[in-house]
Amino acid sequence: MTEVIHLLPDNIANQIAAGEVIQRPASVVKELIENAVDAGASHIELHIKDAGKTSIQVIDDGRGMTEGDARMSFERHATSKLQSADDLFKLSTKGFRGEALASIAAIAHVELETVFESAAIGTQIKMAGSKLEALEPVARSKGTAITVKNLFFNVPARRNFLKSDQVETKHIVEEFNRIALTHPEIAFKFSHNGNVLQDLLSAKLRKRIVDLFGMNFNKKLVPIEEKTDIVTIKGFIGKPEFVRKKRGEQYFFVNNRFFKNSYLNHAVTQAFDNLIPPKTFPAYFIYFEVPPNSLDVNIHPTKTEVKFEDERNIYSILRSTIKLALGKYNIAPSIDFEHEPQFDLPNEERQKPVQPPSIQVDPDYNPFQKASASTAPSTTSPSSGAMKPNREDWENYYEITEDQAFSETSNTTVPEEDTGGKKLQVHNKFALVQVKTGIMLIDLKRAKERILYDDLMEQFMLTPIASQQLMFPFEHNMQYAEKLEWENNKTSLKRLGFNWEWHENTIVLSGAPSFLEDEDIAQCLDAISEKVAHEEIDKGELAHELIRTLSEAANTRKLHQLQPEELNHIIDRLFQSEQHQFSPSGRRIMNTIALEELNNYLK
Ligand code: ADP
Ligand code: MG
Repeated sequence: MTEVIHLLPDNIANQIAAGEVIQRPASVVKELIENAVDAGASHIELHIKDAGKTSIQVIDDGRGMTEGDARMSFERHATSKLQSADDLFKLSTKGFRGEALASIAAIAHVELETVFESAAIGTQIKMAGSKLEALEPVARSKGTAITVKNLFFNVPARRNFLKSDQVETKHIVEEFNRIALTHPEIAFKFSHNGNVLQDLLSAKLRKRIVDLFGMNFNKKLVPIEEKTDIVTIKGFIGKPEFVRKKRGEQYFFVNNRFFKNSYLNHAVTQAFDNLIPPKTFPAYFIYFEVPPNSLDVNIHPTKTEVKFEDERNIYSILRSTIKLALGKYNIAPSIDFEHEPQFDLPNEERQKPVQPPSIQVDPDYNPFQKASASTAPSTTSPSSGAMKPNREDWENYYEITEDQAFSETSNTTVPEEDTGGKKLQVHNKFALVQVKTGIMLIDLKRAKERILYDDLMEQFMLTPIASQQLMFPFEHNMQYAEKLEWENNKTSLKRLGFNWEWHENTIVLSGAPSFLEDEDIAQCLDAISEKVAHEEIDKGELAHELIRTLSEAANTRKLHQLQPEELNHIIDRLFQSEQHQFSPSGRRIMNTIALEELNNYLK
């Protein structure tokens, strides 16, 4: 009888092992950049073609390899970073398994050029399917350049399994961001098909975040810091008013390694509790330092999950650190829930018959016990107790009433006995209208939003929305993924009145919807690109979402005192809308307070 068990040839074993380490182009990117970081590089370049499917090149100025090490580096379990099993618990390097280069060489064409430290001459190696194809001396500057071509050329099943260029690029961008955020001290350059996507100078963390995600991030960040025996926490959290409806920029790092952890993520959410609406996500960049022996990084082959020895304590330390930071920066009392454009009903909700918004904010709740809590804006509906005036309010109310009542009666053309006869703007924000059964309170801003939305929707359906040529082209830095989405939705965006060009990741806007004021364009672009890149919005909903965003953006300023004709006009137009009860984002525009109820106030 012949034996049936035999050892797999190395190239097959490597191919199998490769499947675990290298799932897609982004995994190659991660491994190569991490090797460059481990080699002590201060400048790292990443150049990809066709989302990394055609080629991925990483160039570093690190310590390089000797000829012998260069050859060894493609052997499985060949690593310079781990000598004994004990070392596993004191790792300071990214890699340690010695599997990456062997795996990559098993499933791609690899070219390596490396010059060891100050050697005059270096080594060039070509590998294909685990086989050494060429080994030659080469002249180049200090460091290493690795080019990985035709990924999965010999594993068609894998190659066919790859997603669209757009999706694969997103994964690469994400890996790149994680490493760039771990090492702000290293300069990075990143290009795709010859277009430079990022060119990051060595910087402090805050600057690195802003360089990566755009200037507008600068005003969004609050620093956090805490040092205890078991953990040191540093980094930044996004202010609550900048929450997004998608996860976006949420990064945990421990001992300079990116990780995911839903338990600790929960701690963050808890700290933000009551400051942000449900189903929204704050940005965070949080860096933990723990003693290496209290951390297990080896529980996942691609190493994005880690296990802390003291997870429970770290949870509560993290939560209180964030709460403290939020309190210290006085964020809690200054949030104006009313003006948060993100306070929208989720998509599913919008399909249902319109109902008052479900977000309930307790105006008296203040997690930081500030004395000024009573100045928090009230979002309770007008029919609840909010209308009960206390003495001071009552006085204000009276003053304005008298003032305006005068101009009102002298200008209005509506006969007195008409039920809609008396209209009054109060606190600039509201209109009070006398109706048969009592008085109607109208939120004027929401009313304007509804009117604009209806107008825009109608225009959008019939003709493209008029575009205005901008006198000074407006520039706005975007993330690469946002740029892709923006281009994907070109037709709708052009129809909305936008015209643009790209300078790398910067959009240069030459035309914008004509009804937008120049000052509103920045905020609007931000909101629009977020909508466009929102994975959960399907194409059919997108037009609605974009127009809603535009009508909000055109309507951010505080209302001034309106001329009586203006006030009349707004109210008339509002009542022409089929949806005059609710704003496009589902907020109540009006409510009536019955005479009876009014009488009760005076009892
Ligand atoms: P690991 O990083 O887990 O050690 P790799 O397969 O990624 O395994 O790399 C094998 C070895 O090759 C590394 O331990 C390192 O000594 C060497 N090496 C890889 N890339 C570089 C680089 N860019 N510069 C210098 N040495 C490198
Ligand atoms: Mg490695």
